[in-house]
Amino acid sequence: MKKKTDDLERLRRQIDAIDDRILHRLASRRQLVSRILRAKSTREMSLRNVRREEELISRLIVLGKDRGLDAHFVTRVFHEIIDDALGFQERRLQRNLNDYHHGITRVAYQGIEGAYSQLAAQQFFSAELDRTELVGFPTFEEAVSAVRNGDADYAFLPIENTTAGSINQVYDLLSRESLFVVGEEIFRVDHCLLALEDVPLFKIRRVLSHPEALAQCNKFLSRLKNCRTEYYADTAMAVQKVKDDQDLSQAAIASEEAGTRYGLKVLHRQLADQPENFTRFFVVAPQPIKVDRRVPCKTSLLIATPHEEGALLKALDALHRHQINMTKLESRPRLGTPFQYLFYLDFEGNLAEENIRLAVDELRTRTTFIKVLGSYPMRERAKTAPPPSAYLSRSREAEDKTVSPEPATAETKVSYRLASRGTKARDTSVEVRGVRIGGPELVVIAGPCAVESREQIMVCARQVKEAGAHILRGGCFKPRTSPYSFQGLGFDGLALLAEAGRELDLPIITEVLAPDQVERVAECADILQVGARNMQNFSLLKAVGQVHRPVVLKRGMMATLEELLNAAEYILGQGNQQVILCERGIRTFETSTRNTLDLGAIPILRKLTHLPIVVDPSHAAGQRQLVPPLALAAQAVGAHGLMIEIHPNPDEALSDGPQSLPFPDFVRLMSDIHENVAVES
Ligand code: PEP
Ligand code: MN
Repeated sequence: MKKKTDDLERLRRQIDAIDDRILHRLASRRQLVSRILRAKSTREMSLRNVRREEELISRLIVLGKDRGLDAHFVTRVFHEIIDDALGFQERRLQRNLNDYHHGITRVAYQGIEGAYSQLAAQQFFSAELDRTELVGFPTFEEAVSAVRNGDADYAFLPIENTTAGSINQVYDLLSRESLFVVGEEIFRVDHCLLALEDVPLFKIRRVLSHPEALAQCNKFLSRLKNCRTEYYADTAMAVQKVKDDQDLSQAAIASEEAGTRYGLKVLHRQLADQPENFTRFFVVAPQPIKVDRRVPCKTSLLIATPHEEGALLKALDALHRHQINMTKLESRPRLGTPFQYLFYLDFEGNLAEENIRLAVDELRTRTTFIKVLGSYPMRERAKTAPPPSAYLSRSREAEDKTVSPEPATAETKVSYRLASRGTKARDTSVEVRGVRIGGPELVVIAGPCAVESREQIMVCARQVKEAGAHILRGGCFKPRTSPYSFQGLGFDGLALLAEAGRELDLPIITEVLAPDQVERVAECADILQVGARNMQNFSLLKAVGQVHRPVVLKRGMMATLEELLNAAEYILGQGNQQVILCERGIRTFETSTRNTLDLGAIPILRKLTHLPIVVDPSHAAGQRQLVPPLALAAQAVGAHGLMIEIHPNPDEALSDGPQSLPFPDFVRLMSDIHENVAVES
């Protein structure tokens, strides 16, 4: 026993020593980063060099693999390190450009300790937290007047939330006050249900929180029976109230940190209707700042337009003409003039740049009021895509080999309209979380036929990521020919799929079978699939046409291409323009394969329609040894993507085992795909 404890102690000391070394090396790396900045500044180079970042990550992935570290882990760690280096360089540049404040920085926020505003402010000022004093105020107005009176240097104010929308009170304050935006922060909000003790949910009678937080957790709250909600000025105050009342039937919705601070227990995490729940904050000050031109930057404005036809369009055209990317447009009522509006605009760019200045000058001539709120460093730094995806790039030449779009002439009579090249000559591409389907890169969707368990979907997701594929598939509602076959895990399966997607940072796709599932599935799936058996289920097509998620529409087993395009038309006609077609084999007289993969359909579809096309060789072949050659053939005829079924142990799969690739075969296929690209380019 003694020996075991000694061993443990010794191993722990070794780990501590390694951690110390990691930390030292990180510090040395930062010093080099700072020297690089000096070397760059003499030559006015941009802060980021994506090529260099890609090379750096590729090299480390290979090195890591040799030492048993998986690619996703290596990528995640180095994304953090690169992000830190960029943040460090940005702060340096900003400090050189603006008067550096040497004393204590005082930051006013609304709320008490543990409120989200305070946590987000800590994140924003994390590099100089020892010199920052965060002061809570009961209202936004009081936080702002602290800045106006010189009692605080900055106010830190929430401006919008990705679930509940804009925080109007703050927008209205910005229009009234003479303050400038000098920074932004994006903070992940994870709402927890907190109570005095670990009480069962059915005993909770009252839930206390800020109205915004309650609104973000609407779905969860509607499942609590005999329970009412009560508003508090901020989430942490609700926590404090639960603590003070000592009433076991009360709970608060707030951050876990607030719970810890006031000694409450977490009953439930991730309560928000949308798992991706973020709040964006503005840092405001009495004076604007200058932003170094090498720092990616946003600018915010407030405008009012004349009350006449086309006025807003004319104003926005100024941005368009100067090639400015608008990131937000918000309208607020103009006090005193009913049904006239103020517009808040955020766009990418820096007032120090010529095109931004010209656009703002032009805006001045087209508006009745304009207030420039300032330029500030952009918070979200795009992460350099993990290089395995680069292995799958389709070269420009490959692009050229595919059929070029031909606008339909007046004589070409087709029964569909929106899907045709006549309506839109250029290829449509669909973007999901950084993955573009319909562009030059071949996109690989892979995963099991059905989600079977947490363990199974997790290992599949890891494999998809490691092999350099892009999107995770997994059926939760399975359309099975026999009612006695495995029908899928339903919404429980979807929760597991979503968890795996989040964990490995992969977009997810799953099939919907019925219109009444669509809205709920669309809440967490990035792409919806309409299966072959449902291609002409018109009420389902209409339902998926009404949501804001891309749809993969599979060709029916007995459908002609015209019928497929008409099915797409049903979806497009409802508003949803993000339709991806899928060839998955059709029923012919041939019985040696499960279905006959119609490869000729791909170049024909590319001629007839602007919609992206993916090929699913798994359901066509029905047997795994045919999947790799058919996948490569699909790549050769110009498919934009592939959908491949994989399974950690295909013989034990609950659905479609015979056609599922075991992991080593999938890795080989991915490298063959990669090789084809390399040969072509
Ligand atoms: C599937 O993708 O799991 C599926 C059922 O496909 P299909 O609709 O093409 O048969
Ligand atoms: Mn299947």
